[in-house]
Amino acid sequence: MTILDGKKISNDIKDEITTTVAQMKAKGEKTPHLAAVIVGEDGASLTYVGSKVRACARVGFESTLIQLPDDITQDDLLNKIQELNQDAEIDGFIVQLPLPKHIDTQAILLAVDPKKDVDGFHPENFGKLALDMETFIPATPFGIMELLKRYDIETSGKHTVVIGRSHIVGRPMSILMSRKGQPGDSTVTLTHSRTKDLAHYTREADIVISALGVPNFLTADMVKKGVVIIDVGITRVPDANAAKGYVITGDVDFAEVSEKASYITPVPGGVGPMTIAMLLQNTLLARQRS
Ligand code: NAD
Repeated sequence: MTILDGKKISNDIKDEITTTVAQMKAKGEKTPHLAAVIVGEDGASLTYVGSKVRACARVGFESTLIQLPDDITQDDLLNKIQELNQDAEIDGFIVQLPLPKHIDTQAILLAVDPKKDVDGFHPENFGKLALDMETFIPATPFGIMELLKRYDIETSGKHTVVIGRSHIVGRPMSILMSRKGQPGDSTVTLTHSRTKDLAHYTREADIVISALGVPNFLTADMVKKGVVIIDVGITRVPDANAAKGYVITGDVDFAEVSEKASYITPVPGGVGPMTIAMLLQNTLLARQRS
């Protein structure tokens, strides 16, 4: 069994980006600049945004963190987005989700200029992804594709079962794995909360990509020997013994499933770090394409 070391691979990618940025600077080119918009004070969101901004510094990018109050109106937020769309200094930006309830998330994501949409959430970019066109692939699915690629895992003709159909992970993942190419060329089954007898599908899977957010959901009896496991789930499970009072837990019962798997991502240290690396990669692409 091989652990898919997202921490190591994400560091390799960051090193590669650092080298590219240094070369760009040496040639007098503009440094890639990522902006992150956060509305409100949600602890987990602040943590995620903070690590994205720190990652920018690590590779030599410029970054701007825009913190807006919880009670900002939708119009004011839309104005901020327009400002960022028009700001030639900013190559790409993200709007950290979730947004407060009084704001229509879809209206905000639609307002982002697709050329600066480094999260890949705009319908134009999502459509291009489905049509094999140049786009920004959402960072988590992009990170999973990169892990499969760098570990040289055969996906052609394999049966990939994706659990979860969210717009940011499960759905795009199912499209990417069915596209032509390596990784890709898989026969894909997309399962979700209304799937009947989900274990019937996972037991037949060569590759399982789990993105539902239920700790230890996937158990050893649900997979076959030699399966490749990608665990996207991140859930904070209360634990009085842990320094923070919780432990980060994946969707997969790692202890028992790893006994049967050929490859498996740990949580933490698997898909999570890859997500940030690929956001940086998308920002670099935005700079290079502009
Ligand atoms: P979500 O929470 O939007 O949706 C969950 C999906 O799981 C839904 O499509 C639902 O149909 C499905 N589901 C729920 N219960 C199910 C069940 N019992 N059986 C089968 N399917 C079921 O999903 P999301 O935003 O993709 O997040 C999923 C998990 O991945 C969460 O734990 C999240 O924190 C994590 N996540 C991790 C990263 C990362 O960088 N590693 C990035 C994004 C999300």
